[in-house]
Amino acid sequence: MTTQNFNINQLVRDNVKKLKPYSSARDEYVSDGSEMVFLDANENPFENGVNRYPDPQQRSLKEVIADQKGIQPENILLGNGSDEVLDLIFRAFCEPKVDNIITLPPTYGMYKVLSEINIVNEREVLLTLDFQPDVDAILNTIDKHTKIIFLCSPNNPTGNSFQKEKIEKLLQAFHGLVIIDEAYIDFSEAPSWTNQLTSYPNLMITQTLSKAYGLAGIRLGLCIASEEIIRILNKIKPPYNVNELTQKRALQRILDQSSVQSEVKDILKERDKLNAFLKELSFVEQVYQSDANFILAKVDDANKRYDQLLAKGIVIRNRTTQPLCKNTLRFTVGTSEENKKLMNTLTILNSEL
Ligand SMILES: *Cc1c(COP(=O)(O)O)cnc(C)c1O
Repeated sequence: MTTQNFNINQLVRDNVKKLKPYSSARDEYVSDGSEMVFLDANENPFENGVNRYPDPQQRSLKEVIADQKGIQPENILLGNGSDEVLDLIFRAFCEPKVDNIITLPPTYGMYKVLSEINIVNEREVLLTLDFQPDVDAILNTIDKHTKIIFLCSPNNPTGNSFQKEKIEKLLQAFHGLVIIDEAYIDFSEAPSWTNQLTSYPNLMITQTLSKAYGLAGIRLGLCIASEEIIRILNKIKPPYNVNELTQKRALQRILDQSSVQSEVKDILKERDKLNAFLKELSFVEQVYQSDANFILAKVDDANKRYDQLLAKGIVIRNRTTQPLCKNTLRFTVGTSEENKKLMNTLTILNSEL
């Protein structure tokens, strides 16, 4: 897809195109830093740290993020977790009962759930046996109502990244939107697609502070895309979708890159340890290479092993019902202590064979 033959307006739902967005008090007045008396939003005037509405455009936070990623604040939309961001994308571009989207199972379950909530047909094109997108099959599945292809890279639950050439081919051949879900990008050696925005007008990237940044509890997700696309999403987002406590806490953490990087490094070290350990167990048949903070492994009997671990107080994810994932378990990488406990328990199970 090139800038010349891509027109985002052809992809936007008519009602969204016509929509006049809600204008909040804080949208109409933008502070220039001088001292003002705020009597515009019916807030309680007594200061407690959160008595004022938060900035609907999260300007301070976006400036820092944009600076770190080498993009503009206008390329960013923030939401209440990537789940809200993904829902906004459905509502902006997918006409219920008319449009469809393509997902590549086994993958993150929210794309399908959101498509059902929004009454948008979901077309599934299985990954190949090595968990890569089947580009020809995807291109054959596209029709004139296909609005979005969801690519999760590194993919959940398989852990691998998709080949650059395959993603490029889809970005070039598809006239709708290609969303790359980079929830696990900070654990991967592959570069983010954020620096490709200018090459592909149909590229959208989602990221989250829930994984590497360790802030799942505050709910902050990002969408990174062209200014045109972000402007459309901004039209339909709830005005105060990212609360003040989240904005403050996220800013603090994003500015503390050394802590984030040091935790990521520790997690990767533990992942490599666990990876080597799992390969030695006799009931483990295959350990899949991971670019994320979890490992997928194929075992003799996933239900049995899941129950055994649960009985010993360890909760993992049984993925056996997912396509191409029969008898697989997904292990999130914990602390060194947690990892030790997991490996000790697995050693006991292994000796009971
Ligand atoms: C965990 C995860 C997310 C994160 O969602 P949030 O709503 O931001 O917590 C997004 N995509 C994938 C593939 C994930 O695994």
